[in-house]
Amino acid sequence: MCFVKRLVLVILCVVILCGFETKPVEKNREYYEKRGEIVWEVPVDEKKVAFTFDDGPSQETTEPILDILKINNAKATFFVIGKRADQYPDLIKREIAEGHELANHTYNHLYIKTNIKTETIQDEIVRTEQSLEHLTGTKPLLFRPPGGYYNEKMIQVAKKLGYTTIMWSWHQDTNDWRSPGVGRIVNKVLNNVRNGDIILFHDYTPGSTQTVQALEIIIPELTKRGYQIVTVSELIKNKKEQSIPIHH
Ligand SMILES: [Zn+2]
Repeated sequence: MCFVKRLVLVILCVVILCGFETKPVEKNREYYEKRGEIVWEVPVDEKKVAFTFDDGPSQETTEPILDILKINNAKATFFVIGKRADQYPDLIKREIAEGHELANHTYNHLYIKTNIKTETIQDEIVRTEQSLEHLTGTKPLLFRPPGGYYNEKMIQVAKKLGYTTIMWSWHQDTNDWRSPGVGRIVNKVLNNVRNGDIILFHDYTPGSTQTVQALEIIIPELTKRGYQIVTVSELIKNKKEQSIPIHH
């Protein structure tokens, strides 16, 4: 075989082999979970779970929820809408005063699909952050994209601004915003609960008191079963150490 032919063959082999090696990385749950960029739930040894409330604050729902949490000494995480925080500053102040965690859920409940510009995403997060910092004196650390829509651009913007993106346990989506019935919300949580769950509720559900009624059943029952209801940041602090491989 002449030199040129051999060279072409070698190059072809290299191209084929490299082609096989550089399979495009699928940016799925496993990918983001490993990198610590998105959290769906937290592996913990203790009987601890996190309650999260999205889309508030609202006068009808947030107040009774805060009352129930207080009576039961439970701490929750509120993923608030910046615009609503500006409308109901007293509820935000009450949330922080009672030991709950305040987190960012954009200013206008924007669905961050792939066509949304970087500047828009940044503006939605920063405006909410400014409102919360002004009202609570603390910078929020957690971000949840409305509707759970996430993409690489959004995650990197949130990360650059100092946020960890938080989703929810797939087996703990109560769908309470659809008013599915108190029993369904209760069963969803109580039948599926595991250590380290991040449970999804809403404290802005116009015309429905189902979330409040469900919590009146769920919280005492979880307490009876020995669960502690903590903030998402507290849950993350309790994360089970993954075993580190030792190389000799
Ligand atoms: Zn939402």
